[in-house]
Amino acid sequence: MGTEAMQERTEKNAGSVVGPVILLGAPGAGKGTQAQRISEHFGIPQISTGDTLRDHIRRKTPLGNQARDQMEHGQLVADQVVCEMVAERITRPDCERGFILDGFPRTLKQAQWLDRHLAQKHMFETDQGCRKQPIVIQLTVEYNDLLRRLTGRRTCPTCGRIYNANTSQKPLVEGVCDLDGSVLVIRNDDCEEVIVERLKNYEAQTLPLVSYYEMRKRLHAVNGSASRLDAITAEACKAIEHGDCV
Ligand code: AMP
Ligand code: ZN
Repeated sequence: MGTEAMQERTEKNAGSVVGPVILLGAPGAGKGTQAQRISEHFGIPQISTGDTLRDHIRRKTPLGNQARDQMEHGQLVADQVVCEMVAERITRPDCERGFILDGFPRTLKQAQWLDRHLAQKHMFETDQGCRKQPIVIQLTVEYNDLLRRLTGRRTCPTCGRIYNANTSQKPLVEGVCDLDGSVLVIRNDDCEEVIVERLKNYEAQTLPLVSYYEMRKRLHAVNGSASRLDAITAEACKAIEHGDCV
């Protein structure tokens, strides 16, 4: 999608209720990158449980100290901890029109909790009792591609923008953020040993969510190849715009 078309659509979407959007995909599938783009398009916040947890670790909060060990070893943090984090975040006023969950849910328990929570809190319910259900965008990427992307991933510590030394998403100057000049960093858990563990855990714990959402007719699978950056955003935005009410 061209910048002008994006701009026009962004303005068109400024006031409408978008509802909950879930980005589902393996580590390295491009959830963070697409979440940033979709967030700008609809003007709704991106909620990344991984970013929030990393922030807790940096600030050495009790939650951060509790989660650090699991994250460093590529294990998932306890369901209750992340569910409470999300529950608090989505009550904030900026989530009124909708939000994008990037990296949540990651287990069946989390998905079931989210459905229950949205229903109990009557979130995104109209006067007619119709409710916007989560739209799930699944980014599909082959295993070897995921490995290549994860080993090349670089993040800006200032603005959060994601780059990749192994794809066309390179910064203009190696190792430096295009937007603010910060030195790009490699995530602690983007080392090969931990990457393999994260991908294993994804298959065991998160992949079952594909059939969970498929059965509920909420899943939109999108080919997540790196060369399709704009096409992925356009397909995802279209699916979100056409999301049903139940
Ligand atoms: P991410 O930035 O999404 O790749 O997440 C980094 C790490 O944070 C994961 O490997 C997990 O240890 C932890 N994490 C993030 N989101 C969740 C979640 N929904 N459930 C459990 N652990 C999570
Ligand atoms: Zn930056």
